Amino acid sequence: MEIFLAEKMGFCFGVKRTVDIAMKIIENKEKNVVTFGPIIHNEDLTDYLKKNGINYVNSLTDIDVEKTEKVIIRTHGAKKEVIDTIKKMGIKVIDGTCPYVMRVHRIVEKLSKENYPILIIGNKDHPEIIGVIGYIQGDVPYFVVKNVEEVEELRKQGKFDKFKKIGIVTQTTEKIDKVRKIVNYLMDFIPEVRYFKTICYATDENQQAIHKLAPMVDIVIVIGGKHSSNTIKLYEIAKSYCKRTYHIQNEKDLRIEWFKHDDKVGITAGASTPDWVIKNVIDKIKEFDQILGGKEIL
Ligand code: SF4
Repeated sequence: MEIFLAEKMGFCFGVKRTVDIAMKIIENKEKNVVTFGPIIHNEDLTDYLKKNGINYVNSLTDIDVEKTEKVIIRTHGAKKEVIDTIKKMGIKVIDGTCPYVMRVHRIVEKLSKENYPILIIGNKDHPEIIGVIGYIQGDVPYFVVKNVEEVEELRKQGKFDKFKKIGIVTQTTEKIDKVRKIVNYLMDFIPEVRYFKTICYATDENQQAIHKLAPMVDIVIVIGGKHSSNTIKLYEIAKSYCKRTYHIQNEKDLRIEWFKHDDKVGITAGASTPDWVIKNVIDKIKEFDQILGGKEIL
């Protein structure tokens, strides 16, 4: 087997920044610190943090006001009211929200203050989008859509009938091709369409790299959390080129029967995948290669 790594993969700037905050807390042996929600969508990392004293809470009511001294807001961010409530509890907030996500917060805040109805392209259940919605001010209408078909459906229901303008942002992990379709569609019948490119460059770069790699290999291994949307996007892109594409969380998910001794193996990883997990996967594939009778991979 030959192993090819995507030119860009793994931890992005925003995740690295938040993880570094948590690691520093561990290093300083600080106690009574929790994260609001899993810090990133990666169980290997959240397990590591838990073992080292940083657990996560899923809601405000889960916070033990007596014991908790600091709450880290995760990379995806949180609603403004959540942050304000934690502060009111007398607990210090360490804001680990990725600056690119903060930019989306500022945009929707400004658009809504200027009375723009807002269209958010993304997954309404994703913590990033829940946080973004929390920054919409007043009672401007807003919609969260996954694709152009959902926008067409809203139009049929007359939801856009009176709109003279609309502001559009996207989840940072969205695909540009899908976003283009939606923006073009709305431009046909809404006089003023303000689109902000809030797709993150790190995600773009990882996506471009897998567009390049996947057509050249026989099998693609995509490493990342099962709920990590940027990892799922990488999987979808790889799968569109290479049928034998597998999404795994770590080396324990690998199956030797997926591989052939002369495969060209492509590897990519989501933005929340730690380097040590990627290394373990590569080592495991090398072990498989030995078992399958290949020459040692250098
Ligand atoms: S993928 Fe982009 S937006 Fe998301 S955390 Fe990383 S740098 Fe930030």
